[in-house]
Amino acid sequence: MKAKLAKLGIHRDFDLVLHLPLRYEDETRLTPIAEAHEGAPVQVEGTVIDSQIAYRPRRQLICKIEDASGLLYLRFLNFYGSQAKALAPGARVRAFGEVRPGFFGAEMIHPRYRVVRAGMPLPEALTPIYPTTAGLPQAALRRLIAQALAQCELDETLPADIPGRFGMPAFRDAIDALHRPRPGEDARALTERSHPAWQRMKLEELLAQQLSMRLHYRERKRKIAPALGRSGAFTAGLLERLPFRLTRAQVRAWAEIERDLGQTHPMHRLLQGDVGSGKTVVAALSALRAVENGLQAAVMAPTEILAEQHYRKFSEWLAPLGVQLTWLSGSQKKKERAAAAADIASGATRVAVGTHALFQEGISFQSLGLAIVDEQHRFGVEQRLALRAKGLCTQGSGGGAGVEPHQLMMSATPIPRTLSMSYYADLDVSLIDELPPGRLPVTTKLIAAERRDEVLLRVREACRAGRQAYWVCPLIEDNGVAAETLAGNARAPGRRPGRRQAEALQLQTVLDTHARLAAEFAELRVGLVHGRLPGPDKAAVMADFAAGKIQLLVATTVIEVGVDVPNASLMIIEHAERFGLAQLHQLRGRVGRGVADSVCILLYQKPLGENARARLKVVYESSDGFDIARQDLLLRGPGEYLGVRQSGAPLLRFADIERDVGLLQAARDLAPQLLQLHPEHARRHLARWMAGKSELMNV
Ligand code: ADP
Ligand code: MG
Repeated sequence: MKAKLAKLGIHRDFDLVLHLPLRYEDETRLTPIAEAHEGAPVQVEGTVIDSQIAYRPRRQLICKIEDASGLLYLRFLNFYGSQAKALAPGARVRAFGEVRPGFFGAEMIHPRYRVVRAGMPLPEALTPIYPTTAGLPQAALRRLIAQALAQCELDETLPADIPGRFGMPAFRDAIDALHRPRPGEDARALTERSHPAWQRMKLEELLAQQLSMRLHYRERKRKIAPALGRSGAFTAGLLERLPFRLTRAQVRAWAEIERDLGQTHPMHRLLQGDVGSGKTVVAALSALRAVENGLQAAVMAPTEILAEQHYRKFSEWLAPLGVQLTWLSGSQKKKERAAAAADIASGATRVAVGTHALFQEGISFQSLGLAIVDEQHRFGVEQRLALRAKGLCTQGSGGGAGVEPHQLMMSATPIPRTLSMSYYADLDVSLIDELPPGRLPVTTKLIAAERRDEVLLRVREACRAGRQAYWVCPLIEDNGVAAETLAGNARAPGRRPGRRQAEALQLQTVLDTHARLAAEFAELRVGLVHGRLPGPDKAAVMADFAAGKIQLLVATTVIEVGVDVPNASLMIIEHAERFGLAQLHQLRGRVGRGVADSVCILLYQKPLGENARARLKVVYESSDGFDIARQDLLLRGPGEYLGVRQSGAPLLRFADIERDVGLLQAARDLAPQLLQLHPEHARRHLARWMAGKSELMNV
């Protein structure tokens, strides 16, 4: 029982109170049989006048009942002998279901029924139908919920005037209306969640989220971080040496970061900017600011390829300044890794670049002043929590015990406004809303897979003209995100193949594609890169591609983030209909970085479902990452977007941040008032809603 309840997210009594019905059935009324129409479930009551077990076309129990208005057949395809006995002629039954025309006349197939005594009273409330799980019948769940409703404290956690101000019922009344609605209640408003009682629950939930975010924010402002206030020769040196001038947006973002780094409490800033907007140089400036204040910086990326690329870029920029850089990754040889760890621990390393291996057991920084996390949304929620708990808060940092390093997170997947108002509300955000000058727009084409020959011709032409191309196949990502998206988009949830199986299948696809293309383009050098390739091999292939030694690179989504090869001007994405929108946009951002006109071809497999068509249209029509992210959110919902689904972490259960944006805004306004004027209410509200979950609500 406990395990089944846990499956539904029910861990304590109060969770039962918050387990709200999906819909309701009206058993408070009886409908005369003659008035029951097809299309709407009704409750009828009659006397059994005949009951038989038939064997053709299959074994079934057919039971004929009668009330003052007419006749009705109840048909059961699965039944016990005891049921057949109870439904003997003369018995009085109450049946709930939909009436349909049948072979003999009007019938109900598998109605819910009860044998009753004449005149037995009808229920006074609508019957709630709860979300449940196999082996936990509605009746059992209803009993447990009724118990919890009787036992739990249902008093207000909000100051008395607030519900009324929003035209909402008191908490107890809202709960009562949802679990035991009176017959007069608007069942449709209840089911569609527009009823004032639902509004109240959504506001409650959103308010809990906002309170938790604010508290985290406050707590952070109370923590101590080393102030990196001194500006020195390294940042100035990098700015001097850069072959370009920072855009206005970069200058502004850097100024915001600079100001934060100078404070004595930890920065948690998200640097947002579309693909190619130039976040890396801002990260490098930030790292150098730590170094010129005598502390270390760490730069972490979600994939080996991206981390490696950062390492190269940072080497190019930092080495001439004489800053000691260290590479660390999970695929490194033990000895190299030990040497890297030793340098990081001794402080010989000033800037460490790598994958999440940087924050794993056994790595301890001598004096970490700043942690930079690239493509932070690619890290799963749990990974991010681990990083926060283990990596950053407990290990060595600048000023000794109790001191935390600053954090700079970067993302090319812009967070839509509603998400930044909710899940990301405890972060400060800097925005690079301008691309460096001279960027060429990428032309996007949608081509059905059957026209593949034309596409091959284009590849040949581009490579002949001295340019390079990517050919992207869907395959699992290092952290499994792509496979999730892939499986989620392509199949019904129940039939998702095992992760391992999907991985093997997709690996085969990319190997086959590579073999085929290599045969088709005998005159070109065709390379292959995917997530299962050992780290050094991956790096070697990418280096060859960057150096122009490979002309066509067959790749999985490992190239999705950050890879920068300006001479590549053509990208083909196979089975584009299977990708997430943000992913397609990121992939497309790999071209359009040089001087040649760039083209991104989205190959799709016919027939396209409605949703797939809508999504491809978005990417085809828009080149604005923000716009795409917003549409993505609308099409997929925030759970997918945040990548939380894998970890099973609960998100908002009742409110929908897009649809309920008005309530979200209200909760944002209320939270600070509550914390300031009614801290005791705020505390009780959080305890009621967030028991044990506050951490997950604000990663
Ligand atoms: P992203 O924001 O996607 O991480 P990058 O930092 O990789 O973008 O920058 C993309 C490319 O633009 C790099 O080659 C980088 O050197 C270049 N770049 C960055 N800032 C500027 C600028 N202000 N002017 C010209 N080129 C720039
Ligand atoms: Mg980048």
